[in-house]
Amino acid sequence: MIIVADFIDYVKDGIHFITGDEEVFCPVCHQLMKKCGRCRRYVRGKYGKRDELAVRVLYCQNCNHHHRELPDFVVPHKHFGAEVFAAVCDALNNYFMDDHSAARMLRWVKEFFKFGLATARRLKLEHPTLVTEYNADSTLDTLRYFVMLVVNAGEWRTTSSCILSG
Ligand SMILES: [Zn+2]
Repeated sequence: MIIVADFIDYVKDGIHFITGDEEVFCPVCHQLMKKCGRCRRYVRGKYGKRDELAVRVLYCQNCNHHHRELPDFVVPHKHFGAEVFAAVCDALNNYFMDDHSAARMLRWVKEFFKFGLATARRLKLEHPTLVTEYNADSTLDTLRYFVMLVVNAGEWRTTSSCILSG
C-alpha cells in the first residue's frame, strides 16, 4: 500500500479511476514500481455518499510485493474518507453519524496523531533532510499528511497493532 497526494481522478461510468502523477517507489525496498492492474475500493465521503474507486495495483520486481496506490483522501482499512474523520473532529457536518461512531472516530484520530508525530520525529532522526511540512491548524491536512507518512514509511501495520483495532 502506498499513498499519493498528486493524482488524476478520471470518472467513467461513475467510477473514479485514480492514477498517481509521479513515479511510485516501493515502501518496503524503495525501488521503482510498475503498474500491473487495478482493483476496486469504496470510500464514503461527507454526507455519507459512497464512491467507487478503481485504484492502481503496483508491483515491485525487486522484492516481489504488490502495493495498492491509494489517493490521500482515503484512510487505509477505513470506510470513511479523511474528510469525514476531519469533519467529525472539527465537529462539522457529522449529522449523518451517531454520537457513538463519532466519538470512536475522534478517539482514533487522537491516537493516530500521536503515532504520526512519533513516526515523523523518528523519520527525521533517520533522514535529517526529510521535510515534514503540514498545516498543523488543519485537522484534514494533518490527517492526510500523517496517513501518507506512516503508510509510505511501511509503518501502517505497526499502527494497526497499536491503535487500529477499535
Ligand atoms: Zn520492493
